Amino acid sequence: MASSALAAWEAGADMEGPLRALALARMVTRTDAASLPLGRRDAHLLELYSDVHGQTLEAQVDCLSCEATLSLDTPIGELRAGYEEDRDRGGLREFTLGEARVQARCPTTADLLAVESEPTVPAARAALLARCVASVSRNGGASGPLDDAEIEELGHRLELVDPLVDVRFDVTCDECGHRFAAFLDVPELVWEATSRAARRTLRNVHVLAQRYGWTEGEILRLSKRRLKEYLDLA
Ligand SMILES: [Zn+2]
Repeated sequence: MASSALAAWEAGADMEGPLRALALARMVTRTDAASLPLGRRDAHLLELYSDVHGQTLEAQVDCLSCEATLSLDTPIGELRAGYEEDRDRGGLREFTLGEARVQARCPTTADLLAVESEPTVPAARAALLARCVASVSRNGGASGPLDDAEIEELGHRLELVDPLVDVRFDVTCDECGHRFAAFLDVPELVWEATSRAARRTLRNVHVLAQRYGWTEGEILRLSKRRLKEYLDLA
């Protein structure tokens, strides 16, 4: 809808990264989305995308071999599968990784913001782990930190719980046949679609206000069909 695109665009315009994703998610949830698992937050962002752009997530990726630009269209319903219910808002889960029993939760935007100022990637990773892992035990007793293999396995398990945190597709290039994994940045795609829709709306308001003297509110309330007809006439 034109007005939701405008409101979301205005909310996110002066921000970037996790703060912008959060501002957009708030437009959908109407509550603070900072403590939602990242994938669940992005499932809400996809609701906004559907609202401003339609039911298919349209992305473009460059072939890693020949640099051809490829279109990647995915139904929003497929991406949001498993997120239809809003009951699971994160929280601790128990995982068995080899001999280790781990209580951990999925990372949230609040976690990302908290580790943002860490000086290096390994330091940020360690800080994130410290926030998300509540306990590790082996054979019933408390135990030290997870090793690299266990951390990697925990990452995979958490991704199964919150799959939208990392959206990847196997793509075959139409031009050269190269096969590669394409990563989709959901918050970025939602932001781009929202700003495009907002600018289109602003242009429409500008044209019709000039032509007919209507207010912004009046123009935003026009049905899609009337809007199109008036734009054709103006
Ligand atoms: Zn190619």
